[in-house]
Amino acid sequence: MMEPDRPDLSPRAELLGYFSNLLGHFGPQHWWPAQTRLEVILGAILTQNTSWNNVFLAIGELRHKDLLAKARLMNAKALEIEAAIRSSGFFRQKTRTIRGFMDWLQRNHSGSLRRALAQPPLVLRRELLALRGIGPETADAILLYAGDRPFFVADAYTRRILGRHGWLAEGAGYDETQQFLHRHLPRDPVLFNEFHALLVETAKRHCHRVNPVCSGCPLEFDLLTHGVKPAAIRSRNNQRATIVSPGSPVV
Ligand code: SF4
Repeated sequence: MMEPDRPDLSPRAELLGYFSNLLGHFGPQHWWPAQTRLEVILGAILTQNTSWNNVFLAIGELRHKDLLAKARLMNAKALEIEAAIRSSGFFRQKTRTIRGFMDWLQRNHSGSLRRALAQPPLVLRRELLALRGIGPETADAILLYAGDRPFFVADAYTRRILGRHGWLAEGAGYDETQQFLHRHLPRDPVLFNEFHALLVETAKRHCHRVNPVCSGCPLEFDLLTHGVKPAAIRSRNNQRATIVSPGSPVV
């Protein structure tokens, strides 16, 4: 792990400063957008490698076919689920993951989400990670957003922003990023929920993969305070990206 090059404040104080700036700028994000915990879990699986718009369509179709009801989904045929979630892409693979999850729920927890989510968090995380199609990001989204457990979802957006602000080495992985956040932030699921949602919003509006739009970004203050040079901000393929000046078109 690269040591942060900013000796004046603790990482905790700085990260909490990011949080309050983001919250003040964007307001509460009200995540996860779902009506039930099962819907959160399905959304966490469906959002792999696709946009939320596509997930939204798939969830709508599942609702339309009454497949958000646990008993119905538990007994649904693969073809029926595939047809409902087609808009989310990788629909066969995701159907296998959903069916695997429902099978695990039935076999190991008598079909009770409440019972499954009440397990010690590390036990639950291990069980989720053992399921086909569920990696750390999906497991932690389930733990945090369905189970209210303090596991930061250290997704690509989070890694990009922390990397560009010099907290992590370029190319830092999921586990390294999550450990950094767990070490320096209060282990509070409410904070993790909102902070992650705000980082996603920041990345979507400003911190694009190439050509980040720092001007007007609620974290721009940090670049200015710490003198991070535009040259430090690089796209994933190591081409130099540009700090966009006021008036430049949003990319
Ligand atoms: S757009 Fe610029 S200021 Fe905003 S998070 Fe990305 S690197 Fe930081």
